[in-house]
Amino acid sequence: MDSHSKSGQFWKIKQVTDSMALVAELCGHFYKMGWVSGTGGAMSVRLHHLGLIIMTPSGVQKERMTAEDMFVKCSDGSDFIIPPVKASPHKPPKCSDCNPLFMKIYEMRNAGAIIHSHAMEACLVTMIRPLSKDFRITHMEMIKGIEGHGYYDELIVPIIENAAQEGELINSITEVLEAYPRTNAVVVRNHGVFIWGESWISAKTQAECYHYLFDAAIKLHQLGMDWSTPSHGPIKRSS
Ligand SMILES: [Zn+2]
Repeated sequence: MDSHSKSGQFWKIKQVTDSMALVAELCGHFYKMGWVSGTGGAMSVRLHHLGLIIMTPSGVQKERMTAEDMFVKCSDGSDFIIPPVKASPHKPPKCSDCNPLFMKIYEMRNAGAIIHSHAMEACLVTMIRPLSKDFRITHMEMIKGIEGHGYYDELIVPIIENAAQEGELINSITEVLEAYPRTNAVVVRNHGVFIWGESWISAKTQAECYHYLFDAAIKLHQLGMDWSTPSHGPIKRSS
């Protein structure tokens, strides 16, 4: 190997290890936001130019992870890096149960990063209207933070029903990705939300906007106001 290709290899390895460390750092931040507590939630970053995908492990305290806890997959889903086994009481490393869902989202959308949050506000917003097939909100400044949307637009996010195992959501997610071509988020009733963007920066900032809007909807509902109308006026109750 000549010195030029050696230096190329070095930079590729550095990009992968830097991204693994970044996911660990971001999950520490998301923990403080209440998105990944109790080992819940997950994150993935795709390194398009290297054909590699980083994923968080399953059943691990997300705020205590380091770079070496990350799984790295090839674009076809095969393993590229498996984390080392840690001494008891740590369990053997296992990739996130979201793995097939993340791969499906990457396949159907041009995403560079995906965040799966177990935030309370993402759950509650689906419980207020238990029969709703989607979450709709308009006339809120933070809607501008969602790609392709402005203040006056109606933001529509599909809601799917929860399942006992994360992997069982695959058919519902596939269906709503087809039915809602503009969406870059899917809410799972009583469970959480998947949010993605073209980069980790886009996924993170949009995730902040989505959580803000879910929180706003819950607070407006508590105030007796209808979050889904332009005026956010009083909730009309049918007698
Ligand atoms: Zn989950």
